[in-house]
Amino acid sequence: PTILAIESSCDDTSAAVMVDGEIRSNVVATQQIHEQYGGVVPELASRAHQQHLIPVVTAALHKAGVEKQDLDAVAFTQGPGLLGSLLVGGMFAKTMALALGKPLIAVNHMRAHILAHFIEEPRPAFPFLCLTVSGGHTQLVIVRSAMDMEIIGQTIDDAAGEAFDKTAKQLGLPYPGGPHLDKLAREGNPTRFPFPVGAMPGYDFSFSGLKTAVMYFLRQQTAKNPEFIQENLPDLCASIQYTIIQTLLRQLRRAAADHQLTQIALAGGVAANSGLRQALQDEAATQNWQVFIPAFQFCTDNAGMVAMTAHFQYEAGDFASQLVSSDPRLKLA
Ligand code: ATP
Ligand code: FE
Repeated sequence: PTILAIESSCDDTSAAVMVDGEIRSNVVATQQIHEQYGGVVPELASRAHQQHLIPVVTAALHKAGVEKQDLDAVAFTQGPGLLGSLLVGGMFAKTMALALGKPLIAVNHMRAHILAHFIEEPRPAFPFLCLTVSGGHTQLVIVRSAMDMEIIGQTIDDAAGEAFDKTAKQLGLPYPGGPHLDKLAREGNPTRFPFPVGAMPGYDFSFSGLKTAVMYFLRQQTAKNPEFIQENLPDLCASIQYTIIQTLLRQLRRAAADHQLTQIALAGGVAANSGLRQALQDEAATQNWQVFIPAFQFCTDNAGMVAMTAHFQYEAGDFASQLVSSDPRLKLA
């Protein structure tokens, strides 16, 4: 099938075209407007989606060399995400499907982050264990098939991406801080400042303790030396990143061992983190894991992963009615 997919869950407007499971285009318009506010402003995000959507869809169809009339289905992200953002993409997809007389496919954004692994080689085989680390989620998921997934652990407070962004903000780095912190961490000593690893039973995660620990530590140090952050920036970044990675790895190791899974997949925007990628590769060598990380453009929010998920749903006959509504808290299972 030829599928047009639309992603508008947060602050990236994206459209992709997939033909018989092969990605033909994946166009993303990132919203710059939020930078000056140090975080995503929902009202502004909705408005920017409304502005970007038609140009992005037009570009995706053009790049793919596909005419609207050739589409077999229109897919969109139903949730989770920001309601206003989801509504813009959802309403557009519904209207387009209705006008073309084509079926509609409603996609779960977190499922899509996971199924991004099937866009390109090498693809994991079922069952596998996926660690999804994004701006709003941190989940350990057993993936039995494209449609059968079970969350076995998740964060009880902040997401891993949030932990990066919030601590980076405390260090005075621009938003979103994750990539900046990553870059600075490469020059720093990861064990210089020991921060607490959020210890949770089972496979859950907790990152709010780290944020608080960093805040008190910085307050204490800058009281003694106002230049403390500037003078120690790479070491601070490396130490924070190291702590986040250790927190993630601990639960991942435990889950993999308990469920005897050796195919480990990483999904979501934080999968771009160089320290996390390296740590996983090192771990793979000692644990006999096979590690899968999608290309960067399919890790952060993109419609390619929505198209991939829609492809599986199309094959399974899983279509949505025009009555479907956006759901900011849509659950994975
Ligand atoms: P969700 O999917 O949960 O709704 P999201 O889609 O907004 O959240 P993503 O786009 O998947 O999140 O990822 C964005 C997050 O990834 C941000 O928190 C960003 O700081 C983080 N991130 C991106 N690159 C890096 C990096 N190199 N190191 C650390 N964090 C990073
Ligand atoms: Fe996302």
